Amino acid sequence: MLCPNSAPILQKIGAYESLADASFQLEAVNYKTSDGLTTDKFYFGHKEKYGFKALRAHRNVVLEKLRQLCEENGINVLYGKKFESVISESQEQGVRFRLADGSEGFATLLVGADGIHSKVRSTVFPEAPIPKYSGQTAFVGTTTMDKLRIPGGDFKNEFPMVIFGTGNNGACLLFTFSKDGQELAVATHRPWPEQDREGWDALAKDRKNIIKIIKGDDGGTWPDVVESAIESLTEESTSIWPYYQLPTLEKWISEKGRVVLLGDAAHAIPPSGGQGANQAFEDAWSLAQMLGNLSEKVSLERGLGIWAEVRQERVSKVTELTLSLGTVGLPLEEREKLAKGKVWSAEDADVDWLYKGQSDVEILKKMREEAER
Ligand SMILES: Cc1cc2nc3c(=O)[nH]c(=O)nc-3n(C[C@H](O)[C@H](O)[C@H](O)COP(=O)(O)OP(=O)(O)OC[C@H]3O[C@@H](n4cnc5c(N)ncnc54)[C@H](O)[C@@H]3O)c2cc1C
Repeated sequence: MLCPNSAPILQKIGAYESLADASFQLEAVNYKTSDGLTTDKFYFGHKEKYGFKALRAHRNVVLEKLRQLCEENGINVLYGKKFESVISESQEQGVRFRLADGSEGFATLLVGADGIHSKVRSTVFPEAPIPKYSGQTAFVGTTTMDKLRIPGGDFKNEFPMVIFGTGNNGACLLFTFSKDGQELAVATHRPWPEQDREGWDALAKDRKNIIKIIKGDDGGTWPDVVESAIESLTEESTSIWPYYQLPTLEKWISEKGRVVLLGDAAHAIPPSGGQGANQAFEDAWSLAQMLGNLSEKVSLERGLGIWAEVRQERVSKVTELTLSLGTVGLPLEEREKLAKGKVWSAEDADVDWLYKGQSDVEILKKMREEAER
């Protein structure tokens, strides 16, 4: 999901229009009781308020557009190469690094944008924490809208929605994800004990069980629209998604200042706010703006310091919102265990700071102030 905070960035790099064309566009997710009453909304986008709707597209659609743009702009991407280690790093000479095929490379600045299990992080920042399981796992299947028994009235126009079941079923997310709004993800997240790799693989392969978990087996019930969605899930369409999060990293920049982490490598967060990729775009764009505005008065070292300070502050606010949103769909029993203020409510839903805020503006302002000193 791409929200209004990354939309201006996508516009500036020339990716927005074609991505919008290829995406399902939406504004709010509706939270509903089992009898269809809308109790809350969370806005992932809003054309009037934030200038953009949210775009929901398959990851490959976004990656393909970015790949095309690189090609059109003469940016050479080498595929199939794996970063292995840093051989040497110095402020004067940059970074010499080794790839898994044994070859070596050189960069003035090495950007580790290699995801939640970042090799750059584990080799250059050995003291950094490792991703931590949040205790929640999403169980997901997909179906199509025509399989649903949708009650009358406005219900049809209110997708995507999170519908609460009775008993301890928690909430079921019905989320349209194809451009035509016909494909639908059906998901629920539940507290689940952490597994090792084999354990997660076994859980993912036990597809009958995934459908059983989505259905809930504690005697609670779902409204008919959810029942029909679950009934129509095929075993092949199921998957699991254990939520891992990277504990806050103190440093995104190496001691010698020539290796920098961004995106999930620096701050992987659970999916509840739909912000992981959006924050990665913000990191990359603001880093590029900072690098393009260095001067005799603002060195690379200082520019990186300003960039990291502004970005870290913003990401920690986003993380807080994400964790709070993640409490919404939990079974009632689990929500009741949480302290007040930890459970998201519509009262906290002012997200102007998120969708209107721009890190690059603040970073460039700080750089100008530094230059004028
Ligand atoms: C199921 C799912 C749904 C999600 N939905 C959303 C959503 O709706 N909205 C949202 O904003 N975010 C969402 N996210 C989160 C989002 O995908 C991530 O936050 C985002 O992809 C982070 O981007 P990144 O570039 O930092 O890392 P990644 O997308 O993980 O990319 C890392 C890249 O580094 C490469 N790499 C790894 N190791 C090496 C190495 N040693 N050498 C070289 N390259 C390497 C990988 O191959 C990969 O190409 C979702 C995540 C998942 C798993």
